[in-house]
Amino acid sequence: MINFEYSRVSSVKAAVDVLAKNPTGRFIAGGTNLVDLMKKGVTAPTRLIDINGLPLKEIKETAAGLSIGALAINSDVSENETVKKNYPLLAMALNAGASPQLRNAATVGGNLMQRTRCTYFYDIAMPCNKRQPGSGCGALQGYNRMHAIFGASDKCIAVHPSDMCVALAALQATITVSGPKGERKILFTDFHRLPGTDPSKDNTLAKGELITGLNIPKNPFTKNVYYLKIRDRASYAFALISVASALELTGNTIKNARLAMGGVAHKPWRLTESEKFLVGKTASRENFTKAAELAMKGARGYGHNNFKLKMGPVAIVEALMKAMV
Ligand code: SF4
Repeated sequence: MINFEYSRVSSVKAAVDVLAKNPTGRFIAGGTNLVDLMKKGVTAPTRLIDINGLPLKEIKETAAGLSIGALAINSDVSENETVKKNYPLLAMALNAGASPQLRNAATVGGNLMQRTRCTYFYDIAMPCNKRQPGSGCGALQGYNRMHAIFGASDKCIAVHPSDMCVALAALQATITVSGPKGERKILFTDFHRLPGTDPSKDNTLAKGELITGLNIPKNPFTKNVYYLKIRDRASYAFALISVASALELTGNTIKNARLAMGGVAHKPWRLTESEKFLVGKTASRENFTKAAELAMKGARGYGHNNFKLKMGPVAIVEALMKAMV
């Protein structure tokens, strides 16, 4: 780890100003990913700007929906009574992530900003276009069991590691950011990027911007929801595949459906075609299977991760069946 300078800030404006003066600095809150990246030499910010003193911890429901400050701790969100009652898919996804210790330290903003856990990205002796643009991709011909089956490029096949973000994609959240040009909102599904020709960029944040919070619109998905996570062990493991499913039912007819997958792409992967197919249909295993077939169109394996092509549709059907219970 290289030496770095350290600042504490107490307002959003001060945070943005300090970063503007130190463009190679980084904001830090829980630090559950950033400190690892620094220790391993993957990133080397010259200044850490500690934003833990900012008033961005509130979790509040209004007529429009749920508002969550960027510094709300993951476990505070998942244990919040309003979240459990009115946004249960988010609580389930959060509880599937990491370990209790990490959930007690990690913030919502940090969860959005966490970087891929591709092992080649963390091994500075290996080529990685995300860490060092133009150096190649160690995973393409390497051990790519955890990697993407959707939306990858010949430059990068990494996946986004978050569980929370899969639920937020399904729930159509909006992210609020502040930067040198003021405040703006970003649709959740527009926040994380596909790798394309430049995998070094994970998201669409502009230079100098800070995430201040997010909003989830009021929605009818309070009962028939499920977050299914398939992983190598029961806790403290990233998803091989995860599925966030939410249904609004009238009797046994699907009035509204939301589906998103994790562990399959460089961003949380929303299954809009499957959602559209399900609306107006009977909630049955047969229709869930057809929706899963639609979801897998265009999926591609890279060798060690070919098993995800079979696991994906099974996981989608299972998540929808479990949402019915
Ligand atoms: Fe790097 Fe992406 Fe290739 Fe992993 S998959 S080695 S993150 S370029």
